[in-house]
Amino acid sequence: MIKKQQVRTRFAPSPTGSLHVGNLRTAILAYILAKQHKGQFILRIEDTDRERYIQGAMEKLLTILQEFGLEYDEGPELKNGKIIQKGKFGPYIQSLRLDIYKEYAQELLENGHAYRCFCSSERLTKMREEQQKNNLPPKYDRTCLHLTPQEIQKKLDEKLPYVIRMKIPDNQTIAFDDIVRGHVEFNSNDVDDQILMKSDGFPTYQFAVVVDDHLMQISHVIRGEDWVSSTPKHLLLYQYFGWEPPLFAHMSLLLNPDRTKLSKRKGDVAAEDFLTKGYLKESLINFIATIGWSEEAGSEEEIYSLKELIKKFDLSRLTKAGAIFNLEKLDWLNAHYIRAKSIKELTALCLPYLNQVKPNISRELAEKIVTIEQERLKKLEDIKQNASFLINEEITYQPELLVWKKSTPSQTKENLGKLITFIQDLRNSDYKTAKGLEEKVITWIKENNYGVGDMLWPMRVALSGQQNSPSPFEIAWVLGKKITLQRLSLAQSKL
Ligand code: GLU
Repeated sequence: MIKKQQVRTRFAPSPTGSLHVGNLRTAILAYILAKQHKGQFILRIEDTDRERYIQGAMEKLLTILQEFGLEYDEGPELKNGKIIQKGKFGPYIQSLRLDIYKEYAQELLENGHAYRCFCSSERLTKMREEQQKNNLPPKYDRTCLHLTPQEIQKKLDEKLPYVIRMKIPDNQTIAFDDIVRGHVEFNSNDVDDQILMKSDGFPTYQFAVVVDDHLMQISHVIRGEDWVSSTPKHLLLYQYFGWEPPLFAHMSLLLNPDRTKLSKRKGDVAAEDFLTKGYLKESLINFIATIGWSEEAGSEEEIYSLKELIKKFDLSRLTKAGAIFNLEKLDWLNAHYIRAKSIKELTALCLPYLNQVKPNISRELAEKIVTIEQERLKKLEDIKQNASFLINEEITYQPELLVWKKSTPSQTKENLGKLITFIQDLRNSDYKTAKGLEEKVITWIKENNYGVGDMLWPMRVALSGQQNSPSPFEIAWVLGKKITLQRLSLAQSKL
């Protein structure tokens, strides 16, 4: 499937603030493909749209890529607060390559594949309105294509601003074989005379992407389906320059489960928001890389580390249909990776969240909380909510909740009294583990022929204030003997 000898892929984001999960998907897949073939993964910053330029966005992007462990072989790097260019095809930031684009645009002007367009924005707007009125596709009407050399020279002498447009041939079929989508064809009549260089001296994306992919020797272009319709322009440019085009893989766009486009309005779309909520990077990579992909037909396998993905991923098995972004699956995967962590590792990851509930929480308490909550966490952030009754001094609940099924408030009160006396007599060593505590309490219940629910339900509610929670022994173990007794007494006084 992969034809090119040396695989060089690139991730070419425009730094516009945050990293959309769709772009993260491009980055992950481009990384995987490069590593699969012992090739290079390149980062290129496409910052030629000055209107969308955001200060600091590039630095943020570099940091996020690093957080995900998507190390690139070439590209701009942040070293001691400074941007340096790693690799021999740099600079890898388009705004630092303006002279290069200028030179290539000049070449196209000279060999007649491009022309200067002096049309004012007012004229173009009017033209578009006219086209709309007549139900015509929005296309430049080629007024400036027909200027004589003398007319052009006159306008240049007058210092009129101009853009450079590519000349699209008439009625030509432009075709390519996409790794994901198969054979794709366009008729050049449907393609606009694309602006290559803007009047501010900056190239457009359409031009810079071709020049750079060629000069940086990119073998595979992986990007979103929304770029398919740009590809004929790119292919023509390759043809004009006599360059061999790369192979293309256009991934389907990410969709919400209701098949609408994944957008901010419907929830998070920025990769960093998922990290903030406590999705682990390994879950996000696993989830995002496998959206719309399976190892083989009917395969049920869903867990893949980045290493396994590098071994097994096959770009040509990506779905052509819309790829559903299923948050339930992400939660499930995340819970899986959370459960696979050691208590030490998970505590380190949960500490920032626990600190929000109790600043400077002790490591010992944090570890205990993590031990009993690990099984229940879908994302790290959940620990704030789940653990608040273990951390906060006061818990509130309705007294009725303490009463087990057919028991009565007075019976419950009496049982709590018995529990208190029993727990008071326990030694500190009985509190070493939740398991040890459980054995003690259960033996005591059996020896006295008490009902298990009659004792353990009020104990659990008294300690947690909740209908559902970890077991009473686990909670008592985290709270320690003193607070356990306080909460049992409080419960008793409520009845
Ligand atoms: N700068 C474009 C983007 O942000 C890159 C598209 C491409 O990969 O060619 O989507």
